Amino acid sequence: MDSRSNKEAVQATNDDASASKLSCVKKGYMKDDYVHLFVRRPVRRSPIINRGYFARWAALRKLLNQFLDTEGNACEKGHLKKQILSLGAGFDTTYFQLQDEGKAPHLYVELDFKEVTSKKATLIETCSHLRDKISATASISRESGEVLSDHYKLLPVDLRDIPKLDDFITLAGMDPSLPTFIIAECVLIYLDPDSSRSIVRWTSKTFSTAIFFLYEQIHPDDAFGQQMIRNLESRGCSLLGIHDTPTLQAKENLFVEQGWQRAVAWDMLKVYSDFVEAQERRRYVYICILENFPLIDLVVLLVILWYHLCFSRIERLELFDEFEEWHM
Ligand code: SAM
Repeated sequence: MDSRSNKEAVQATNDDASASKLSCVKKGYMKDDYVHLFVRRPVRRSPIINRGYFARWAALRKLLNQFLDTEGNACEKGHLKKQILSLGAGFDTTYFQLQDEGKAPHLYVELDFKEVTSKKATLIETCSHLRDKISATASISRESGEVLSDHYKLLPVDLRDIPKLDDFITLAGMDPSLPTFIIAECVLIYLDPDSSRSIVRWTSKTFSTAIFFLYEQIHPDDAFGQQMIRNLESRGCSLLGIHDTPTLQAKENLFVEQGWQRAVAWDMLKVYSDFVEAQERRRYVYICILENFPLIDLVVLLVILWYHLCFSRIERLELFDEFEEWHM
């Protein structure tokens, strides 16, 4: 398969992702009460990285909310159940956030290498903040890197091992006929192209009603792409798939050729300007205020809301002058 050092370097990208998300959270771009638990050494990222992560987070959450909000999410009310499958989930905390928002689906399944799931299982077991979000009867094994609870499952698997994927979704109790939202954020690009194709084909064949959310790098040959590749390679990590699907069109083709009915790929500039900007760029500050001061005097609250509606667009969070790079 791959060299040990490349595997370790790929796993380490997960620590980078968590540190970047925490940097965004600390700057006030988004709310995540859990990501700090997964970051040993917090770092401050540049405004361009923060804004990029915010756009990525906002786009995923918007699509996820659309999926969850449509009729049938509330499993306890006996409606149609839904499930989420996160491939290469790393230390992502979406499940815990959805729990807080009362939006968690019937089943949320996360897969990653055992080295990563073991660390995540340990944190879930030892940190009451996380432990409280899964059922009291959950079985957690640090050694095997597994968490098995009623509505949340964390399992160790190498995604390239397709026959095992079948076993693991059975073990997780996934029902392939239920509406399923599949997430792969910065994961398939690290795999060899044949493995990525096999995974995309496996998802299209396995789940009868599904959405696949893919987020990953494109344009390896422009200046920014080359810089990104050099940066990763200096850390022993290769983007094995980037020359196989280097454009938006290639990403769409990947899905349609592997059995998906329809695929739409957007670059992040379009996501930010057309998708996030229009509806999501107002900060979530007033939500936090409402949570923190439920009895606040109504007049004061209205003034605060007015202030935040006028002044809290995320562009105002940090001075931003990296426009050329942003457009690349
Ligand atoms: N999806 C998470 C996020 O966006 O925060 C983590 C992204 S991190 C850049 C890539 C993750 O994919 C790592 O946790 C890594 O261990 C996982 N990964 C890469 N190749 C994998 C494979 N063959 N099998 C399982 N997990 C894999």
